Amino acid sequence: MSQEHSASEPGDLRTPIVAVLGHVDHGKTSLLDKVRGSAVIEGEAGAITQHIGATAVPLDVVSEVAGSLIDPESFDLPGLLFIDTPGHHSFTTLRSRGGALADIAILVVDVNDGFQPQTEEAIRILQDTQTPFVVAANKIDTIPGWRPHEDAPVQETYEAQSDRVRQQLDEALYELIGELSDHGFSSDLYWRLQNFQNNIGVIPVSAETGEGVPDLLTVLMGLAQRYMKEDMEVDVTGPGAGTVLEVKEEQGFGTTVDVILYDGTVREDDTIVVGGMNETIVTEVRALLKPQPLAEIRTEKRFENVEELSAATGVKIAAPELDDAMAGAPVRVVRDRPLQDVIDEVEAELAEIAVETEEEGVVVKADTLGSLEALANALEEAEIPIMRAEVGDIAPRDVSMATTADEDTHRCILGFNVDVLADAEQRAEQDGVELFESDVIYQLVERYEEHVEAIERQQKEAVFENIRRPARFRILEDHVFRQSDPAVVGVEVLSGTLKRNTPVGKFDGNELERVGVVKGIQEQGEDVDEVRAGNRVSVSIDGPTVGRDVEEGDELWVDLPEKHAKVLEQELAEEIPADEREALSMFVDKRRNRDPFWGK
Ligand code: GDP
Repeated sequence: MSQEHSASEPGDLRTPIVAVLGHVDHGKTSLLDKVRGSAVIEGEAGAITQHIGATAVPLDVVSEVAGSLIDPESFDLPGLLFIDTPGHHSFTTLRSRGGALADIAILVVDVNDGFQPQTEEAIRILQDTQTPFVVAANKIDTIPGWRPHEDAPVQETYEAQSDRVRQQLDEALYELIGELSDHGFSSDLYWRLQNFQNNIGVIPVSAETGEGVPDLLTVLMGLAQRYMKEDMEVDVTGPGAGTVLEVKEEQGFGTTVDVILYDGTVREDDTIVVGGMNETIVTEVRALLKPQPLAEIRTEKRFENVEELSAATGVKIAAPELDDAMAGAPVRVVRDRPLQDVIDEVEAELAEIAVETEEEGVVVKADTLGSLEALANALEEAEIPIMRAEVGDIAPRDVSMATTADEDTHRCILGFNVDVLADAEQRAEQDGVELFESDVIYQLVERYEEHVEAIERQQKEAVFENIRRPARFRILEDHVFRQSDPAVVGVEVLSGTLKRNTPVGKFDGNELERVGVVKGIQEQGEDVDEVRAGNRVSVSIDGPTVGRDVEEGDELWVDLPEKHAKVLEQELAEEIPADEREALSMFVDKRRNRDPFWGK
């Protein structure tokens, strides 16, 4: 067993934690691999430490990689700890005391591709959590004609390119800077920045060739040293505080939690408090585990026991009763403190994440607390109410809950990065509950919104089918084919659409007098169901006698019920053609001359 102080040895400054975010395929994983890879090559054997869920790159390795860019004497932070899982999912999962656990983030953007939906989402999350970040403008090596200089600082390789290549890179970078500005961030190429506090540094890099990686490490280290040193001054020997990254079954250990420890130490004999799905868990550490060093990877054992670990680091904790532990939940070492205080602290932190729910709304499920919160924020922004929000897979009881929603549009379950239990899927189908699943928040919100639109369209169509529509038409002179029972006359539709089986009337001043019902419509000898404005047809009208109740040249109107006029005017005005709208407004105007509140 080894005594391990991770990367925090020099003094009491802990290692800043770095997260990588960005759109899919923009090179997050490659960039992390490159950073780790170049660190392994440059560093002395064993200098780079593999942690659970994170990689520590100590200062001496950073300075080897950075070469002339960095003066190691000017730093006293121990190095950088990179979270191994890139993406905003792990970023939002890893929280500490209400904020992001990562101290600093790298936003990876493909220089050719620019801002994409997940770039925007990442920016929003960084903004919400007020996390400082730099932009890695990745894949500079894909610019046509690029001559790679493996692992070189970016200005060196930039100078060595042709004018045309340089110009093309400049254009791409300016576009990126413009996009950042559209999102409210002032930014520039990092070497032009004096002040990183109000400006975002853009670092051109290639995860493929390693160009710009020295610059990236230098800027991260510099930023942390200059602006975050105070936050790093923690008591790394005090009781540990961390966040659950993952809950995992591990052979020989049962359920374990992978924890990123951001404060203090954890020891083999500690009692810990962990946030649980149902109740807060109090348990004794059984083993602290870290991965076997690379050299010993061929041994049977995947993990190595350690007695003690200090922040910042990743560690697997084996302990009884962890089945209910939640990814994203806080972990606290109790040590020399009243247990109840620590339980209260953990519960207060969990309560802070609790999503506000309403009587009426959708059901949301997510795999971790952080993602649940991020999803809830996105829904709130889109003004979508939530009835229940929980961590966990979609279960039958969620379906039952969703069926209690009053509105059709709320009988939905939105699942982020979760599974649907088999009987839940069946139940949902039976009960008409709509399930939406995705591991991208904006897609989930977008798909739900599309669903709502479709429902609303259907509802409108249903209303349309049952609603009488306004029309105005004139009995033509010399076109009376039959006087009565029914009267058959030629008419011209002046505005709107005249349909069969519609009651019609004639205005006497502002009073509409019912004259009968249009029974049939014939256009050029053929029976039709309806006729649009501008056409001449013959109609049969049950009720009136021509010469007594109606005359040639009379203007007749569809008798529009008050309720229908109201729906048309207030809800469907945009959906009906202009001439119909005109007929409607003439009709209601006449009516309102008598009764100002008619149809309101
Ligand atoms: P992620 O989804 O953001 O993690 O992206 P990946 O790291 O998986 O990269 C997506 C693809 O882009 C892979 O095929 C990588 O090999 C490629 N790629 C990433 N970075 C670079 C780069 O700097 N240059 C080139 N040419 N390809 C890259």
